[in-house]
Amino acid sequence: MSKNFANSGLRVCLVFPPNWNCTAGSPHLGLPCISAALAGMTNTTSLDLNHGFLSWAFGYPPGIPNTRCLDLESLNEPYFAFQDLLQASIGSSGEWVASEGLRLVGSPECSSRKSLELAHSGSPFRKYIAEVGAPAILASDPDIIGIGVPSLLQLYVAIEVAVVLRQQGFTGHITLGGNTISRLYPELSSADIFDTVDSLVVFEGEEPIRGLVKAIEQSTPFELVSGLVTENKQEPFNSTTGRRKESLADMWSTPQFDGLPVGRYWGCNYIPILAARGCYYGKCSFCAIPFGWGPNGFAGQRSAKRVYQDMLSLSELYGIYRFKFVDEALPVPLMRELARLILDGNVEFEWEGYTRLEKAFGDPEFARLLGQAGFRKGYFGVEILGSRNALNKKDANDPLRIFENCSVHGIRGHCFCMFGYPGTTYADAVATVDFLIKHSAVIDTADIFPWTYAKHTNVPQVKRIVTSDQDWALEFDHEAIEPGVFSSSEIQRFVADLEDRLWSEVPRMLHPTYRMLSPWKAGLECIG
Ligand code: SF4
Repeated sequence: MSKNFANSGLRVCLVFPPNWNCTAGSPHLGLPCISAALAGMTNTTSLDLNHGFLSWAFGYPPGIPNTRCLDLESLNEPYFAFQDLLQASIGSSGEWVASEGLRLVGSPECSSRKSLELAHSGSPFRKYIAEVGAPAILASDPDIIGIGVPSLLQLYVAIEVAVVLRQQGFTGHITLGGNTISRLYPELSSADIFDTVDSLVVFEGEEPIRGLVKAIEQSTPFELVSGLVTENKQEPFNSTTGRRKESLADMWSTPQFDGLPVGRYWGCNYIPILAARGCYYGKCSFCAIPFGWGPNGFAGQRSAKRVYQDMLSLSELYGIYRFKFVDEALPVPLMRELARLILDGNVEFEWEGYTRLEKAFGDPEFARLLGQAGFRKGYFGVEILGSRNALNKKDANDPLRIFENCSVHGIRGHCFCMFGYPGTTYADAVATVDFLIKHSAVIDTADIFPWTYAKHTNVPQVKRIVTSDQDWALEFDHEAIEPGVFSSSEIQRFVADLEDRLWSEVPRMLHPTYRMLSPWKAGLECIG
């Protein structure tokens, strides 16, 4: 744990709660972005309690055979042994998937009533939170505690952290922020959450947290802070605080990872990085991702020059030259400019990122440029072949050309597949799996998801099923209201069958450890 000493004298502790996955090779990027925004304003401490909990309870990160020939197969044993350890600790109370987190029976995370009950009565994380996590937070003597909640599975745990902090005597300000809070703030505001926490930070967190610090420092009402929700102010932006402004992504300093155990995660470690905030396209009919960035779905973009500078300074600081872009979709012009900067700078970076099937990836010159600049893997949203017009993807219609072209230039390809959306067909789902199997020489890995009805989307031909205890749910079951449309259970059944088929034909593609090492050239040497 370390601090950035400065300024107002206020102390802020930023906390990442337990119940995140165990297979990411870095801290989550949310806290480092907020920490950078507070630089020069507060003394900021960051704590990754997910890493802390896993280390405390399970000796994370697990040992991995010391071999230079490490591959997916040799990771089988440690991965599944660790998975068994997690599951044994929870028994029949839930399912604990190392690459996702703990899902308790009855999905308490979807219900305000169940989540608040659990946060007060104690979840499986309570002992750690009470004995280790909360004391570590309080040791920094904070005035403000900010808890990031990127995943819904972390929500009751985040509230539980706040409950325990109050029990242990903390009287300062507790705020929750992150994607889940941004997507659920109206529902969170109407629950009894303000008994424990003081505010919610909605959408981009930098401005609201700075506003919160200033309000505390100057004793002005929190209700004047733009982007903040409190018990007395249910809307983050109103006539008093002003409309939400797009951030100028270039104005923020390089993310600050101080206090976070960079380089000590499982698998091949990298540094997460962000260029574009949200999705520059944002119109796929099934997708709720843009909503997490605000009403426009896109909140601006950092210039390639600043991103390159971020990469230079972070690699110098941590001695890690691998970067994972966490953008929803990396914009092609930014990739092109960044690649040129990397080549001009003669730096050996490796990087990967989420991408759309843009025509540019089928252009040999573009792929060559990216490959030479160390772009190792693109994660493409293929979804389904054939009937994909129903998804309003409006992207390149020849994915094979893209995967072949990328492969020639040393760029691995991942296919995100999603089956069952109304207007798409079973035959096309089968054809998509056939495509993956047939072209496994140029497609590295894949995910196959059953389509689920996401909050903040509006899908025709089906009806969302909402039960009484789902006020905090982000995804829902549905029933078909038109012939030829699949129900949730039908989708789950056939997707499981198709997944089994792909697993039996090309297990590499679906292996749960692929993200721990697959894109990196140096992957075999970087796991200790
Ligand atoms: S699926 Fe991808 S490209 Fe489409 S809107 Fe969502 S993030 Fe953007």
